[in-house]
Amino acid sequence: MDLRYSEEYEEFREEVRAFLAENWPPKGAEAELGPSERVASFRKRAIERGYLARALPRKYGGSEQTPDVLRAVSIQEEFGRVGAPQDIGVPGAQLLPTLLAHGTEQQKLRYLPPSILGELVWCQGYSEPGSGSDLASIQTRAELVGDEWVINGQKIWTSGAQQADMIYLLCRTEPDAGKHAGISYLLLDMRQPGIDVRPLRMMSGEAHFNEVFFDDARTPADHIVGKRGEGWIVSRSTLSSERNAAGGAVAARRQFRDLVQLARNTVRDGRPAVEDPSVRQRLVELDGYVTAAEYSGYRQLTCDARGQSPGIVGMMNKEISNSIGFMLANLGLDLIGDSGLEAPDRQLPGPGDGAARWVGEFMFARGFAIAGGTANIQRNIIGERGLGLPRDFAAQRGK
Ligand SMILES: Cc1cc2nc3c(=O)[nH]c(=O)nc-3n(C[C@H](O)[C@H](O)[C@H](O)COP(=O)(O)OP(=O)(O)OC[C@H]3O[C@@H](n4cnc5c(N)ncnc54)[C@H](O)[C@@H]3O)c2cc1C
Repeated sequence: MDLRYSEEYEEFREEVRAFLAENWPPKGAEAELGPSERVASFRKRAIERGYLARALPRKYGGSEQTPDVLRAVSIQEEFGRVGAPQDIGVPGAQLLPTLLAHGTEQQKLRYLPPSILGELVWCQGYSEPGSGSDLASIQTRAELVGDEWVINGQKIWTSGAQQADMIYLLCRTEPDAGKHAGISYLLLDMRQPGIDVRPLRMMSGEAHFNEVFFDDARTPADHIVGKRGEGWIVSRSTLSSERNAAGGAVAARRQFRDLVQLARNTVRDGRPAVEDPSVRQRLVELDGYVTAAEYSGYRQLTCDARGQSPGIVGMMNKEISNSIGFMLANLGLDLIGDSGLEAPDRQLPGPGDGAARWVGEFMFARGFAIAGGTANIQRNIIGERGLGLPRDFAAQRGK
């Protein structure tokens, strides 16, 4: 097994590093800009260089690069290493491939360019109080009245709805059709009288997500993505090219390094905690898990580069990164001892000696295990689609 990149890719990686050294974190006048302007300006430059929005045509604000997973993963790794903004961090990142695949030309031209820069901020209106894992059971209705959709109902756990300009929303438009067939995918302006956003406070004290109530909210008839009743299929779109699974372990590796630093800095019984055999044992175990995730990423990268599907290994990514994140955060909390009672903070940068940062990591690890499909649902997917086990019929019936 040869894990080295070829000379061409090593040279490319050097180029990316040089670009980042110059541009992130921002310097001079750029550093004085507000946080969102700083990010937008960096994104613009990274797109010009072909590092971000690679799959997006230039006419929609992208850099229109030839698909190349090895370049994409080099970018992801190098950007991840210095904490520079990436495509995945754009609010509404999931909307972009959907619009690209199913949007009208007018929708793409209007919404993609400002969205990719983060200038137009989106939130995702999928979950409802009775519909999370069983998302196709949503009840929020949209009715076509004249040339407008009129929307009534409620969404919940809507991340960033307080700041969002627009929402992409799953609604029931065909009440007589079957569960999945009656859903449409709409785009809606958040700044209108028919929408009421009520923030929900989390255990961290922050209000990251919200309840969103729709009371005769309106959107033009042409703000539907795909056809009526096809919203379920539309919502499943992902960018299949440049999957980049190998970059997935970068954050875990960075967190692990910070954890080792924390163990060096923490004093227990008069000695650095890193000298305690029980701590060393846990660190070695974690290093093993992170290394395994890295190699699983390389395996998937090889499949991607050969145009093959990674199959069941790809289905395991979210579950694996959640489990590792959980274990890393648990050890962090154990190491800081009584300081674990501090208010959480995830903004503190490394090298990992800020207690509040580890309280934040611990709390957020719980949320990540739920967001975008719970751990149980991930295991069902692995079992049913990956291993071919029988389907969970009781869950299908909602029991
Ligand atoms: C940080 C965070 C951000 C989020 N942001 C958004 C957002 O922006 N927009 C949005 O629409 N939603 C968002 N969500 C909601 C998220 O998608 C849902 O919480 C998630 O899909 C689970 O749904 P639920 O909360 O209704 O739990 P439920 O589906 O009610 O699940 C409850 C429990 O039952 C288990 N369970 C359910 N069905 C099965 C089954 N078939 N087999 C085995 N176990 C099962 C689950 O694993 C879970 O443990 C966010 C959630 C979090 C935590």
